[in-house]
Amino acid sequence: MSFNAKMYGLGSKRSIIREIFEYSKARAAEIGADNVFDFSLGNPSVPAPAVVNETIKELLDTEDSVLLHGYTSAPGDLGVRTVIASSIKERFGVDMTPNFIYMTCGAAASLTSCLRALVENEEDECIAFAPFFTEYRVFVENAGGKFVVSMPEKKTFSIDLADFESKLNEHTKAVIINSPNNPSGVVYSEKTIKGMCDILRQKEQEYGHEIYLIADEPYRELVYADVKVPYLMNYYDNTLVCYSYSKSLSLPGERIGYIAVNPKMIDAGSVYLAICGAARSLGFVCAPSMFQHVIARCHNAKVNVDAYKENRDLLYDNLTAYGYECVKPDGAFYLFVKSPVEGDAYAFYEKAKEKEILVVPCDDFGVKGYVRIAYCVDKRRVQNSLPAFQKLAEEYK
Ligand code: PLP
Repeated sequence: MSFNAKMYGLGSKRSIIREIFEYSKARAAEIGADNVFDFSLGNPSVPAPAVVNETIKELLDTEDSVLLHGYTSAPGDLGVRTVIASSIKERFGVDMTPNFIYMTCGAAASLTSCLRALVENEEDECIAFAPFFTEYRVFVENAGGKFVVSMPEKKTFSIDLADFESKLNEHTKAVIINSPNNPSGVVYSEKTIKGMCDILRQKEQEYGHEIYLIADEPYRELVYADVKVPYLMNYYDNTLVCYSYSKSLSLPGERIGYIAVNPKMIDAGSVYLAICGAARSLGFVCAPSMFQHVIARCHNAKVNVDAYKENRDLLYDNLTAYGYECVKPDGAFYLFVKSPVEGDAYAFYEKAKEKEILVVPCDDFGVKGYVRIAYCVDKRRVQNSLPAFQKLAEEYK
């Protein structure tokens, strides 16, 4: 072959989620969309706040078209970055400035840029906490590093600090943390975060080099109870935040987010420049211009999180009553359900499929024997699926 076999491998192997999505479309054509209970995709089901569309119209009507659609500076428009920096300062008390903000095409571009900026050679290791967003493995390996998994506490799916400590070594370059979590919906508590940061600081001292914490935060605003999502820069200096508006403003197709480097980080300015270089090398310069301006005006807007909460309550209450096992999610829009067939997510997935329920088997998320239910769907779909979930549970009894 005269092209990159690794890339061919990535491109030709369709993800299970995409596969289910294609199946769902074909099945809907056969039996009607209302009869297929597709819970596979993490695509927000609540619309973007009205102010987003109003702002787009206003921008189109009032702004200079050439400027609005033109290139911004590579890290993003200075005015936009200033608004975001002020918002971070106001919300979290971090002394953020625009020269530590880099606008990106969503969390995926933020993560790949950060990893590319940090990983120096193939011995460098990046740890993720299972269960994890499957693309982390792809991103870390593509940055040239080694992907290492820290296993969770079995009952809570929180971080197992002892396991985490055992995975750190002199090669550890970065740790990726995602809370609220995809796929478990778990929000890591402040106590857990403090414990993790204490371990990191201790290990930095022991190994004599920085270990960077990459906080992947597309679900920060999607929390249901009165839970606090700790802002990691306030707990650990060497933190980079990868933020995205894909879920918080229901704009996944617009590809907009940012990287924020903690000003308190050792050599923060140089790390920021390495991110600029990494993003440049990956072609992630000048995030979508019009949406940068939309964000500057709408960053405080909120989607209707109550719609997700209603779905969460309906599913969690009913599924646990039928006998399914899962942790009650405090955030994001996923339910992580244990397969009634011990350790076999695929068997559960196949059996659910017979009842027209489409869920994602999660072995690739780092924990075997679970499926993910993405409840970012119309409430009617959740309601209509419940008898099928109940029948399925009965078949396992
Ligand atoms: N990180 C996590 C945990 C996600 O679930 C997703 C998308 O679902 C991403 C990153 C990528 O987000 P974006 O669409 O902003 O690139």
